[in-house]
Amino acid sequence: AATRTFHSLRPVGTLPPEELPLTVAAYAFSMLSSAPIVPGRPALVDAATGIAVPYPSFVARVRSLAGGLWFSLGLRPGEVALVVTPSLLDVPVLHFALMSIGVVVSPANPASTADEYAHQVRLSRPAVAFVAPEVAAKLPRHVSCVVIGSEVFRRLASATGGAAAPPVAAVKQSSTAALLYSSGTTGRVKAVAITHRNLIALIAMHADNREKVAREAAEAGEQPPPPAVTLIPIPLFHVFGFMMVLRSVSMGETSVLMERFDFVAALRAIERYRVTLLPAAPPVLVAMVKSEEARRRDLSSLLVIGIGGAPLGREVAEQFAAVFPDVEIVQGYGLTESSGAVAATVGPEESKAYGSVGKLASHLQAKIVDPSTGEELGPGQRGYVGDPETTAATITPDGWLRTGDLCYFNDDGFLYIVDRLKEMIKYKGYQVPPAELEHILQSRPEIADAAVVPYPDEEAGQLPMAFVVRQPGANLTEQQVINCVAKHVAPYKKVRRVAFVSAIPKSPAGKILRRELAQQAVASRL
Ligand code: AMP
Repeated sequence: AATRTFHSLRPVGTLPPEELPLTVAAYAFSMLSSAPIVPGRPALVDAATGIAVPYPSFVARVRSLAGGLWFSLGLRPGEVALVVTPSLLDVPVLHFALMSIGVVVSPANPASTADEYAHQVRLSRPAVAFVAPEVAAKLPRHVSCVVIGSEVFRRLASATGGAAAPPVAAVKQSSTAALLYSSGTTGRVKAVAITHRNLIALIAMHADNREKVAREAAEAGEQPPPPAVTLIPIPLFHVFGFMMVLRSVSMGETSVLMERFDFVAALRAIERYRVTLLPAAPPVLVAMVKSEEARRRDLSSLLVIGIGGAPLGREVAEQFAAVFPDVEIVQGYGLTESSGAVAATVGPEESKAYGSVGKLASHLQAKIVDPSTGEELGPGQRGYVGDPETTAATITPDGWLRTGDLCYFNDDGFLYIVDRLKEMIKYKGYQVPPAELEHILQSRPEIADAAVVPYPDEEAGQLPMAFVVRQPGANLTEQQVINCVAKHVAPYKKVRRVAFVSAIPKSPAGKILRRELAQQAVASRL
């Protein structure tokens, strides 16, 4: 019989004993102290201004702010601090300072509405909010706000000059370190509690992966990759961006922060700061394949593009590899609820498994289950993970996290994500994964970007409808769009309606906002 539970095939690195009181900030700093720090290598760089924070100053600022938060603001372990700002240089300092004294960091999107903040505040009950100036007026009045960069904030940050260290030994690894808001692209936003232990395990996983890559390079007689310079265009309030900074600091590497994502500015930053690692969502990779600007820039420093957050099409990955043969495409899959990466491709060999998100991360087990029967499925069988009816019932009584994604493993332990169950289009009872059709459309040279959503239909239930952004100068017709998909798929998966638009709406982490498009289609009877 097939092995039904898939165990991690990764080496399991050393994790500190679970019962040891330890914050993720202390763990990261202890790793940092053993990392080979190049003198002058900054911890953080602001992409727009070039202002850099060198490591000694980063560590001193974290310690000093932690003292201010403890002694002047009186924050205590277990209390929650909202952080609602773009990715400023002060944000990672604040995240580390809060977590180092056991205060729960709760980062939220600075572009949310007053109603959305009201919902988030009801969930997380913050003791204080650190905000960008324009956010303060949108928060409920009872939440006291400190504006980042203000005089009050600066006084907090220099309150003790690092002289008095707050007592922190009591923080258990099982305590909550961060409350992240799930993106809410399906259902209402939820506050997801992530423990210090979860984050420590993630850092350990990154360290394991880096060791594997270095070992393989040594075996091939090559130099190990240099410490990364990571451009972080993903917001720090999303699990992907949040985690990338933790990783970068633990390893003594450099994070280049962008206040807001902008494709051309990102290309400029890669060139200017000799960026080696770019974590991004699939649309960035699609844009790099299509963009003239990407070819004009000197992107020769780029070694790895780390893709996650939504399914990446195999065709698009192959096209990217043809244009940028020296850039490795690392794919990773995870959820806010899993505190980030559940699977990833590690090293150049695995990364060529385009279409797969790689093997299970260290310390993990997974199983594919059929949602209607709960039966476990073996390799190659597509199953439905998760309960499409109840988002609340995410964790089963025996501790499994239901991801809500349609996925399968192959015989070699590589995981494939087809799409989110909730976003399947139901055409005459057949399941049509929108991502599959999007990948076909995105791989066409005349198409700059595309999204597929359900359109209500009396007879069929739902019709697959494509929103298409044409490449400048292309005069593709509706019928050509329909035909180009029809050539590649079974008849029930055909696109049956088309609208041409100027842009596809995306979440800050790069997910296509399919629900928004579907509403738009119906509202305007496209
Ligand atoms: P969130 O926690 O809201 O950012 O969303 C997590 C969801 O993003 C997962 O359940 C997947 O549907 C999707 N996702 C993340 N990474 C990938 C990936 N590499 N491939 C396909 N889907 C992904």
